[in-house]
Amino acid sequence: MKRALIPILGDQLSLDLSALEGADPARDVLLMMEVAEEAGYVRHHRRKIAYLFSAMRHHAAALREAGWRVDYVTLDDPANAGSFTGEVARAIDRHRPERIVVTEAGEWRVAAMFDQWETLFGLPVEVRADARFLCGHAEFDAWAAGRKALRMEYFYREMRRKTGLLMAGGEPEGGQWNYDQENRKPAERDLTVPRPLSFAPDAITQEVLALVERHFGNHPGRLEKFDFAVTREDALRQQAYFLRHALPRFGDYQDAMLTDEPFLWHSILSPYLNAGLLDPLALCRAVEAEYRAGRVPLNSAEGFIRQIIGWREYVRGIYWREGPDYPRRNFLEATRPLPGWYWTGETDLHCLAQAIGQTLDNAYAHHIQRLMITGNFALLIGADPYQVHLWYLEVYADAYEWVEAPNTVGMSQFADGGVIASKPYASSGNYIHKMSDYCGACHYSVTRKTGQGACPFNLLYWHFLDRHRDRFENNPRMAQMYRTWDRMDADKRRTVLSEAEDFLTRMSKGDTV
Ligand SMILES: Cc1cc2nc3c(=O)[nH]c(=O)nc-3n(C[C@H](O)[C@H](O)[C@H](O)COP(=O)(O)OP(=O)(O)OC[C@H]3O[C@@H](n4cnc5c(N)ncnc54)[C@H](O)[C@@H]3O)c2cc1C
Ligand code: SF4
Repeated sequence: MKRALIPILGDQLSLDLSALEGADPARDVLLMMEVAEEAGYVRHHRRKIAYLFSAMRHHAAALREAGWRVDYVTLDDPANAGSFTGEVARAIDRHRPERIVVTEAGEWRVAAMFDQWETLFGLPVEVRADARFLCGHAEFDAWAAGRKALRMEYFYREMRRKTGLLMAGGEPEGGQWNYDQENRKPAERDLTVPRPLSFAPDAITQEVLALVERHFGNHPGRLEKFDFAVTREDALRQQAYFLRHALPRFGDYQDAMLTDEPFLWHSILSPYLNAGLLDPLALCRAVEAEYRAGRVPLNSAEGFIRQIIGWREYVRGIYWREGPDYPRRNFLEATRPLPGWYWTGETDLHCLAQAIGQTLDNAYAHHIQRLMITGNFALLIGADPYQVHLWYLEVYADAYEWVEAPNTVGMSQFADGGVIASKPYASSGNYIHKMSDYCGACHYSVTRKTGQGACPFNLLYWHFLDRHRDRFENNPRMAQMYRTWDRMDADKRRTVLSEAEDFLTRMSKGDTV
């Protein structure tokens, strides 16, 4: 077999990566690269860059320990070419490989680079499917073919059947596929809220933190108290901690939000799953084992497994099926710039201050904060969905386009016109009040619908429905809301719309809101 150069990207940190199958440690060279283009094509949160560079350096050490030859290029290597293609070119000069083997990229932008390599380098390039996902592109396309609507629920059922997870013979465990109705309880503040494990930075991480400080000072987010896991062993510790302390109540409180409690009963595992430190299917099997052992209720186990084999796989399928223009879609023709305080968290809207502040601190917010606070607000004000997409891509440690864009552009901003969601995730302050304790500490009053101190979500919600009437009034899932709006006194409707306009004008002028 001919000598191979095997590039391993920052989200390919799995020891059983498909590119390594059949490779020979004595003959082949693995290439890992910290390149400025990847760290800087959007202004990634500094914690995200630190996490990935440190995890890459630890992974390189683990690969060497396993006997592989790893050529590792650091960001501050004076000869660093700054891009994947530039570094592969330099590595070809150093190692004279006869072929390149790589696991497929996680986004269109990088896939387009791989496509050029054969011509550019005059070497055969083998791009292998990413076996860390359950559902390959062809399988997803076959599932999607001929369907009028690509709803996650039906895809998820296929994945349950395929994996056998939570199945009892051919039927779903407990008789129902989905226990989402039982997963919507508001949480009480008490001492049992679990806190994710904290991992003290070792020497490698400290070196990376200093490097990120030097090179990415103008990127958003805080580096202080960095405590992510950066090795597989520590990521597995966080997984075990989650299974024991948070999973039992994950189901009940999946949608809950509490002031100054960023994590609640969530797993905080997405950065590790998406970079390859953890294996999604093994995690789901461990969750099922907790249920079978009687330590975890079915609504928690099912709710969690649905997020991974359902949502996670489904959004990836949609991303690759819809094509490279997907992040640029703008069905609602929204053009307003995101307010500058999305990068500082300095706003009087307490729910947004909380979700954004935690994001800047931790490069993390849980799903309902992303969807119903920051996403909902951006949708209601008519923010440019591409800009919203870039914001999410920047600020979350787990953000890669394949998973971020469908969630943001599709689910949260309805900019794909309904490929993912059957209706927009728009809501007034009522939902936030029901699911959180945010409103109690807010400058605004959630019970006020108009007038001094009225919650902006209340005003903007109706403004959104009114301005998109043509698009949504015939949507059966929204008809009830339009009936409520139409039954409102005409004067009140005028007041709501004009106060919403006032709010938008003040916000666009940069006045404090
Ligand atoms: C606007 C928006 C943007 C998002 N961007 C990203 C992103 O860039 N990267 C990302 O991994 N997730 C993204 N999500 C999905 C979800 O918010 C995160 O996966 C989750 O908050 C990660 O935290 P956790 O590990 O504690 O998740 P948990 O609540 O513990 O859930 C378990 C796991 O399920 C998976 N999961 C849950 N929901 C989704 C989903 N909707 N899509 C895909 N996987 C899911 C994740 O792998 C997660 O780790 C986004 C959601 C929204 C609404
Ligand atoms: S009152 Fe409105 S703006 Fe304030 S926290 Fe509640 S929902 Fe958010």
